[in-house]
Amino acid sequence: MIINIPVDVEKIINRLEERGFEAYAVGGCIRDSLMDSKPNDWDICTSAQPEQVINCFEDYHVIETGVKHGTVTVRLNGQSYEITTYRIDGEYLDNRRPENVQFVNSIQEDLARRDFTMNAMAYNSGKGLVDYYKGCNDLKDGIIRCVGKADERFKEDALRIIRALRFASVFGFTIEKETSESIHHNKNLIKNIAKERINVELCKLLSGKGVKEILKNYSDILSVMIPEIKPMIGFQQNNPHHKYDVWEHTIAAVENSVSEPIIRLAVLLHDIGKPECYTCDGRGIGHFYSHGEFGAKIAEKILRDLKFDNQTISDVCQLIKYHDADISENSKFIKKWLNKIGIVQFERLLLVKQADVMGQSDYLKEKKLKTLANIQSTMSKILEEKQCFTLKQLAVNGNDLIKIGIHDGKIIGEILNWLLEQVMENQLENKKDTLIIAAKKIIIEL
Ligand code: ATP
Ligand code: MG
Repeated sequence: MIINIPVDVEKIINRLEERGFEAYAVGGCIRDSLMDSKPNDWDICTSAQPEQVINCFEDYHVIETGVKHGTVTVRLNGQSYEITTYRIDGEYLDNRRPENVQFVNSIQEDLARRDFTMNAMAYNSGKGLVDYYKGCNDLKDGIIRCVGKADERFKEDALRIIRALRFASVFGFTIEKETSESIHHNKNLIKNIAKERINVELCKLLSGKGVKEILKNYSDILSVMIPEIKPMIGFQQNNPHHKYDVWEHTIAAVENSVSEPIIRLAVLLHDIGKPECYTCDGRGIGHFYSHGEFGAKIAEKILRDLKFDNQTISDVCQLIKYHDADISENSKFIKKWLNKIGIVQFERLLLVKQADVMGQSDYLKEKKLKTLANIQSTMSKILEEKQCFTLKQLAVNGNDLIKIGIHDGKIIGEILNWLLEQVMENQLENKKDTLIIAAKKIIIEL
């Protein structure tokens, strides 16, 4: 088995070996290389102690990143490489971080502390692949398996639970039985994990090609990460538009959505308001009036709690708020939407609505999808033709109105908005002369 290691990584490994130490590329980079995908970064492990690593690279820019934990960063051609001394982790007291680490001499011990067999492989061109825990086989079979006893590994560090789901989703892998059972068993430990870490893993998990299986089989874990999800699971909709319960519908919608974080988050949470908005009419049909608006409020709390940035929170919540809004195919209304939420958000809203429909029953499905496609093409035409839907695009501005003798700022604003409305409704052409005449006329009427 030959892995193409970048020249600079090879250089670092050679330098350490020349000085009498062992060194390997290790972890994610080996996993990714064996899957023919490009690693994000190349980590190196070595038998050299941190001080010895620093000495080996005295002619390089060295950053003493985490010497206490054995990590030294070496800069080479604008890239950073983390070199970590073989180590085993000390006792874990908070289900997250070891209290201390202990440096060891053998790579086998170092690999034993790593989370999954596919992440516990090392390689250098002299020795080839070092794979004590059969990671290569598991990788070939698409299996995520803890190194050692799953229960112990998840109790040491509960972040591994979410990492397992993330890798399974991103690679479309299955989680091996003992590992999977242990994940369910130990799920409450993830309450100890920093929200920022959950945030990162959740976004990666949602974007993965195996997201459907994970949301389906590990909804209990998702419910620990986001307790507000729980009421959706098994919640019957009793409505001809739906053939699934709220959670099953959510999964189908996520699966059918564009793999982009804002979209996937919005789709995941789009119906979070449904359980609390449920009413049943005299014919036994279920309704969820205002669930978009209500759901947006719940989502805001969830996303804030998970430390998402303000822009993401506001974009996602706006999509949730309007996901169920009726959008007419008429270009005049489409321009009003573009004015209200902007081009990017309107395009996203159409994608969220499309995903939503894809997760519904077949009742009127084709018609709903056709309407969305028509809206999309009308929007493209509006944008292509640079049709006016913002004050910025209007052929007159405040100064033009001042010139014709209107000085009250509030009235200027009102007139500009009125003119914009007339232009969007195709009542007036977006031409300066036309708009000035209309403004003069309206001022007389006022
Ligand atoms: P990616 O970089 O694609 O997110 P990765 O597996 O490389 O995935 P890193 O966080 O870069 O993840 O970690 C590098 C290596 O360190 C892993 O491959 C694994 O061997 C080990 N590792 C990372 N996090 C843990 C953990 N929580 N428990 C045990 N080992 C871990
Ligand atoms: Mg990595």
